[in-house]
Amino acid sequence: MTAGRDQAMRLIRALSERVPVEAWPGRAAPIDDERSPRATRAAEISPDAVDARWRVLGDDPAIRGELLDAHTAAQQSAYAANIESFIGAVRVPVGIAGPLRVRGLFAHGDYVIPMATTEAALVASYTRGMLAVSESGGATTAVVNEAIGRAPVFMFAGLADAGRFVAWCAEQVDAIRAAAEATTRHGKLIDLRFNLEGSRVYITFEYTTGDAAGQNMVTIATAAGCAWIVEHAPVPIRRWLIESNHSGDKKATQQSLTGVRGRKVIAEAVIPAATLKRRLHVEARALAEAWQVSAIGGVMSGGIGIQGHLANGLAAIFIATGQDAACVAEAAVGITRFESDDDGALHASVTLPGLIVGTVGGGTGLPSQRACLRLLRMDGPGHAGALAEVIAAALLAGEISILAAICAGDFATAHARLARERRAP
Ligand code: NAP
Repeated sequence: MTAGRDQAMRLIRALSERVPVEAWPGRAAPIDDERSPRATRAAEISPDAVDARWRVLGDDPAIRGELLDAHTAAQQSAYAANIESFIGAVRVPVGIAGPLRVRGLFAHGDYVIPMATTEAALVASYTRGMLAVSESGGATTAVVNEAIGRAPVFMFAGLADAGRFVAWCAEQVDAIRAAAEATTRHGKLIDLRFNLEGSRVYITFEYTTGDAAGQNMVTIATAAGCAWIVEHAPVPIRRWLIESNHSGDKKATQQSLTGVRGRKVIAEAVIPAATLKRRLHVEARALAEAWQVSAIGGVMSGGIGIQGHLANGLAAIFIATGQDAACVAEAAVGITRFESDDDGALHASVTLPGLIVGTVGGGTGLPSQRACLRLLRMDGPGHAGALAEVIAAALLAGEISILAAICAGDFATAHARLARERRAP
């Protein structure tokens, strides 16, 4: 906590009024494990195991009825590979945004995009941006790179051993690849990247993973590659870890911006002056200036990348389509750019170096998430590149819409109108 002296004193006084400082809690007694829902066969989803968990929770019929309605109960076995200690499902409202015209390397057509969110004004704002993009001929998109890594670390007695290990390992890529790829039909090891720190060797195993997001795939494959390394290494390895926190998994890092994690995707659109005026009530010059000011504001705040609110659209589309919502952390690192053309048009782009998405595996096969992918005509194999491009185009529309709203003075009024005024008293 960093707080000024006055604020710190105020905070301590407020806490002390609640509980006197001398009575602040110390270490508590250990918990009784028998009362944990874990005691009810955590991995099992059967009526019996779910009932046992609800008994542990007190079995309030009103709470149970909300979380485990008849439809969810009937489908519960579908969740078996996605959750432990299952007790039901939370309903998140889904709205549709669009239509969004996309002309990409993988996605081609007009898309209506399901977004799951509880933030009023979000779907309306993305739709506004999508209409402006679509009326201008659509977004041009391209997946320009693809790789996902798992980054084990190997620890040695000293620098000399670590150096010998790197020299040996670099010669063994084919054998390591064979061991890793034996665990998967779709995972392909592209390369190993070495990063030597003192007597430790961080290796990033980089893969393509077909139409799966691939986090499980690369973990399992890398474990097999590491097992081969440990068995054959010519120098003693003191210890090794399957992940060194160097892969950027679920984190916004500088690496997220300069490298690739999942798919690197670019979306761009040119919005003519008349469309800007009619749909967004702004001029390109004002938008470009606002973007420049925002870029500087972002830099001064210490953000990684330059962007307005990529996480908004990402979270909503990720939740709707069964992506790992925590991967918004790295996927939201990107660069948005707005320029005004001589003819008054806006030239806008987003570059997303860490878009981790799949159309198979993970949560994409769950009933309602799969239904959302079917709305997009993207369920199952063969669609991950198209999904990545459509998401990039949607995020571009969201970036245009939010900055236009800020510029035109609609930002606060739209939230007041769509969030507050519609709320039941
Ligand atoms: P997964 O569901 O574990 O694996 C994908 C499965 O789909 C594989 O069995 C793959 O078979 C199969 N598959 C069939 N057709 C495919 C195709 N066309 N392309 C690719 N695969 C195809 O999912 P994942 O994508 O590897 O991992 C995503 C999950 O990992 C998410 O639920 C995420 O929450 C979780 N996660 C895991 C970690 C971790 O470290 N383990 C970290 C973060 C997140 P083959 O393997 O035989 O090709």
